[in-house]
Amino acid sequence: MSAEPVEARPATDSGRMGIPLVVAIVGAGPAGIYAAEALSHQTDVAVEVAVIDRLPVPFGLVRYGVAPDHESIRSIRNTLERTLEKPAVRFYGDVAIGSDLSIAELRECVDAIIYAYGAGTDRRLEIPGEQLPGSMAAAELVAWYCGHPDVHPDTDQVSTNDHLVASEIDQLVTTSRHAIVVGIGNVALDVARILIKTADQLDDTDMADDVLESLARKNVTDVHVLGRRGPAYTAFTTKELREMGQLADVDVIIDPADLELDPSSQAIVQQNKVAARNLVVLQDWATRPLSGASRRISFHFWTRPTKIIGNDRVTAVEVERTMINSEGFVVSAGAGSTLTADLVVRSVGYRGLPLSGVPFDEKTARVPHAEGRVIRDGGFSADEYVTGWIKRGPTGVIGTNKSDAVETVTSLLADVHDGAVQAHGRSGLLDRLLGQRGIRALGMPAWRRIDAAEVELGARHGRMRTTLAHRKELLAAAEGDG
Ligand code: NAP
Repeated sequence: MSAEPVEARPATDSGRMGIPLVVAIVGAGPAGIYAAEALSHQTDVAVEVAVIDRLPVPFGLVRYGVAPDHESIRSIRNTLERTLEKPAVRFYGDVAIGSDLSIAELRECVDAIIYAYGAGTDRRLEIPGEQLPGSMAAAELVAWYCGHPDVHPDTDQVSTNDHLVASEIDQLVTTSRHAIVVGIGNVALDVARILIKTADQLDDTDMADDVLESLARKNVTDVHVLGRRGPAYTAFTTKELREMGQLADVDVIIDPADLELDPSSQAIVQQNKVAARNLVVLQDWATRPLSGASRRISFHFWTRPTKIIGNDRVTAVEVERTMINSEGFVVSAGAGSTLTADLVVRSVGYRGLPLSGVPFDEKTARVPHAEGRVIRDGGFSADEYVTGWIKRGPTGVIGTNKSDAVETVTSLLADVHDGAVQAHGRSGLLDRLLGQRGIRALGMPAWRRIDAAEVELGARHGRMRTTLAHRKELLAAAEGDG
C-alpha cells in the first residue's frame, strides 16, 4: 500500500503552472520543516515537497529534544505543523531513508534532496568507567523523558543494545540520589532541571505516563554540574540558566572562588554579552545564603571527570581541576576530589552520524557542503543539499535552523535559475516506489489522529497532552484506534 491519498492540490502555494520541481527533505525536524517552509513560501519556482522521516510523527527535536517543561519552545510545533499542512508540502512518516529506500533510489524519484537528519548520537568522555551502569548520555535521558520510541521499545521489539531503553533508565533514575551532569550547555541544564524537579512540578508537561511515574519514584537530592572551563565559557542561554535559581525548594551552590576571572576570561566577558549576563547570574547565586532547601544543584567550574568509579554501578567520580594552556587547550591543573554519584550524565554535545549513500566528513561529523550545496567526490553534487545540525554541527537554538534553511534553499533556487537543477516531471514517482515496496507512509491525517489521541489521553488525567511513547501506540492511534 502506498501513502494515504490526499486532496488534489496546485503545484505551489501561488498556484503557478509548470512542471513542479520535486524536492525530498530527509528529516521532519525543525531543520527539514523550515526548509519546506522556505521552499513553499517562494513563488518563483513551482515545487512539490516531500518531508520524509523514519519516525511515524513529525517535529524531530521539537518533540524529542526540547524539554517537556519548556512548553513555550515546544509550541513551535504549531508553526511547523502549519508548514506541513501547506498544499505544496506533504509529510511521509515511518519511511526510513537508507533502509526502506536507498539514497540512490530516492534520487531517482525526485529532482533534488535536502538532507536534514540532524546529529544522531552523543559525544563521549573517553574516560575509564564510562561504560558502567549509571553512566549514560544526556541524549538517552532526553529521549527517554521526551518519550522517543527508540528508547521506549515495544515489548516484542529486539533491543539493539547500543543505547539504554526505558526499563534500564527507569531503574537508574529511580535508584539515584546524587547525579553528576558533565557539560555546561543548555542540554546539561535541561537534564539537571528534570532530575531535580519533583513529579508535581512536571505534572503539567506532556510526558508519557510511564516516564512521569518513574520520575515520581525518583529521589535525586543533589545534582552537580561540571564545566571543564570557567564561568566565562558557559554555553548556556541566560533565560535557561536563570530558571535554575527559580526552582522551588532547590538551593544553587557555587564556590565564589570558581568565579574569579583570569585576563582571558575577562576579555571574553567584555566581548560576549551572553557570557557577561550568565556571569552576573552565577555571581548572584554564589553570594546568596543557602535556604536549607531539600535539594541542591551545584555548579563546579574548571573541573572535569577523570574516572568513573564503581563495580556493577557508578558510585563516585574522580575529578581534576583544569586550566587553559597557552595554546588554548584544556589541561590538568592538579588533583581534584572524588564526588559521590549514582548517576553520571555526559552532556558534552551531539555528533552527526553517516547515512548510507550520503557524503560524510568523519572529522567534522557533518555532510560536507558550501552554502548548503553538498560536496560529493570533490565537486558539487548535482541534486543534493543539506541543512540543520548535519550541515553546521549541533549548535544553535531551534530558530537558528530557519536562517540555515533559508541559506540552503537560496542555493537550491539559484541552481534552478542557472539550470543546474531541473524539474523532470517526477511528480508521483516517490508514491509509486513506496507502493511497489509495500511501504505505507503516514501523512498529516495520521498525525492529526495521533495528536487527537494524545490530547484525549492527557485530558483523562487533567493534562494538556500525554505523549504516546511506544511505536505500537503511535501506529494504533494513527489508524484511529489508539
Ligand atoms: P553545547 O551547547 O555544545 O554544550 C556542550 C558542553 O559540553 C560545553 O560546555 C562543552 O565545553 C562541554 N564539553 C564538550 N566536550 C567535553 C568533555 N570532553 N569534557 C567535559 N565537557 C565537555 O551542547 P548541548 O548542551 O548538547 O546543546 C546542543 C545545542 O542545542 C546548543 O546549541 C544548545 O544551545 C541547544 N539547546 C538549546 C536549548 C534551549 O534553547 N532551551 C535547550 C537544549 C539545547 P567546552 O566549551 O569546553 O567544549
